[in-house]
Amino acid sequence: MIVSIASGKGGTGKTTVAVSLALAAQDVTLLDADVEEPNANILLHAQINSVKKATVPFPEVDLNKCDFCEECSKFCAYNAIVVLKGLKVFAVPEMCKSCGGCVLVCPQKAIKEVPREIGYIRHGEKDKIKFIDGDLNVGESFATPLIRQLFDFVEGGDIIVDCPPGAAHPMVESVRRADFVVLVTEPTPFGIHDLKEALIITDSLNKKVGIVVNRADIGDEEVRKLAKEREIPILAEIPYDDRIAKWYSQGQAPVAMSSEWRDKFVELWRKIKALSS
Ligand code: SF4
Ligand code: SF4
Repeated sequence: MIVSIASGKGGTGKTTVAVSLALAAQDVTLLDADVEEPNANILLHAQINSVKKATVPFPEVDLNKCDFCEECSKFCAYNAIVVLKGLKVFAVPEMCKSCGGCVLVCPQKAIKEVPREIGYIRHGEKDKIKFIDGDLNVGESFATPLIRQLFDFVEGGDIIVDCPPGAAHPMVESVRRADFVVLVTEPTPFGIHDLKEALIITDSLNKKVGIVVNRADIGDEEVRKLAKEREIPILAEIPYDDRIAKWYSQGQAPVAMSSEWRDKFVELWRKIKALSS
């Protein structure tokens, strides 16, 4: 079973919910797919056992074979390969999407693909929890391919995915395999706006969804009204608690600090398993 923990915006407590669920559930894989800001392990404290480079294929031109015909640059929809006639042919890393098209269209077979590093994939363990995260290099645009590669390392069993915030490609890549999506939100105008955006994605992917309302005792009733209208279960309401903010600042998940919170997240995991089956 894959459970993706997502939110339409950052700062809703999504990572705290994902890590707390993993600590409560045990015997799961926690996959931190927020590759531009991977911070789940700040709360989980997994021992990292291996670090691998993540790469994408990148075109490299053999000028001994190239006749500067320009077929590659005419083909590339991203204007990512440059032909300087008689001098040089090269792809621009920041623009190339690694589609491999130029390799296929080159009449001289002068282009081959070489690995280009985009970031790192780390594996670790904490008690019975397996941990995987990805760290995209600064300025790199390949978040979605890196997330795809993270899933290649999953060995099976129950998987909890801490998704990137927002409703763009990286979030879609993080929820598209999910058996169940937990949307973490706050009962505020910003929260309802971003929840609606996230629901557009989960609806289009035909996903089963539940809502966790964080800081549930602030704001208004709009999230609850929407949940009722859409018949989406509210799985948990987490009231504002000074202790959670304090534990967070100390790098600790609530489940690790309090049996009361552990019981709440054990119950949340039980509900998710029941609804996703
Ligand atoms: S298509 Fe091949 S031969 Fe033509 S310019 Fe590009 S690399 Fe050179
Ligand atoms: S791999 Fe694709 S995006 Fe990159 S230069 Fe070749 S055609 Fe353009």
